[in-house]
Amino acid sequence: MLKEYVESSNYIVFFGGAGVSTESGIPDFRSVDGLYNQKWKYPPEVMISRTFFEEKTAEFFEFYKAKLLHLDAQPNSAHLALAALEKAGKLKAVITQNIDGLHQKAGSKNVIELHGSVYRNYCVSCNTAYEVEKITEASDTPLCNCDGIIRPDVVLYEETLDDNMITKAINHIRRADMLIIGGTSLGVYPAAGLIQYFAGDKLVLINKTATHIDNDADLVIRENIGDALLFFLT
Ligand code: ZN
Repeated sequence: MLKEYVESSNYIVFFGGAGVSTESGIPDFRSVDGLYNQKWKYPPEVMISRTFFEEKTAEFFEFYKAKLLHLDAQPNSAHLALAALEKAGKLKAVITQNIDGLHQKAGSKNVIELHGSVYRNYCVSCNTAYEVEKITEASDTPLCNCDGIIRPDVVLYEETLDDNMITKAINHIRRADMLIIGGTSLGVYPAAGLIQYFAGDKLVLINKTATHIDNDADLVIRENIGDALLFFLT
């Protein structure tokens, strides 16, 4: 069924959450096996907040490097299939909540990273851009030549998403004839709001657990995204 859907579509948009990257060994924040169950002094939503970054900067980076940077992770079949779909001209955009850069590693070109990327970093004082190595090589807080703190261009708790990014995502979703939503339970802003803009006739959900829009979907697939999309790679 998914295969037929893909064949009859010309403007596919993929909207993905943490579940897309779990098969690459990157834990899902909100899943039972995710970071919440691990032993840190504070819960992740505290340690990855703007306040924590500003007040306990060294601890922020300790946690960030240990738990959010997965620079050795490799794209899985979901990333690869989506890149292939884009190359074939079928898929026009990947909208992701992930910050791991794995879609680009797989070869996707048009990736809208709603929550930013660990691969972009900048000085909070002078805005100079830095490679991620500047973060990994620092023994505690990474500093710019101007002595400003270098931070990742990722959206922390207490911070808002970039308006331009949201507008871009909406524009693609509006034009899509097929929307595939994968690896997200759609509980997190802005996922649920964004899909309201979809006006196409093929809404596909690929998620291992139920979501609140299952009934609205034209097709629900209870599988790993990688397995569900695998047909496109073979
Ligand atoms: Zn600077």
